[in-house]
Amino acid sequence: MSLIITEDCINCDVCEPECPNAAISQGEEIYVIDPNLCTQCVGHYDEPQCQQVCPVDCIPLDPNHVESHDELMAKYRIITGKA
Ligand code: SF4
Ligand code: SF4
Repeated sequence: MSLIITEDCINCDVCEPECPNAAISQGEEIYVIDPNLCTQCVGHYDEPQCQQVCPVDCIPLDPNHVESHDELMAKYRIITGKA
């Protein structure tokens, strides 16, 4: 399951450099997460790094992109060229 940034985002830019998959970028109004690149930080860290640093707690799990741990690990391997 990827994460999603809600409209509560204050565009502080703290999360973008913390993402190990470069899944976060500035969208038209707020920052956005590419669900094809977000692995919930699986493969890199025990906890989603963006959630750890967001000052307004606006990065929940995205119910529209449900994936198992194994699927997230497979995505991590593809993204990092370890497949
Ligand atoms: S959970 Fe990890 S991989 Fe997903 S957007 Fe946040 S920092 Fe990036
Ligand atoms: S850390 Fe939170 S408030 Fe800051 S840009 Fe990222 S999602 Fe938005």
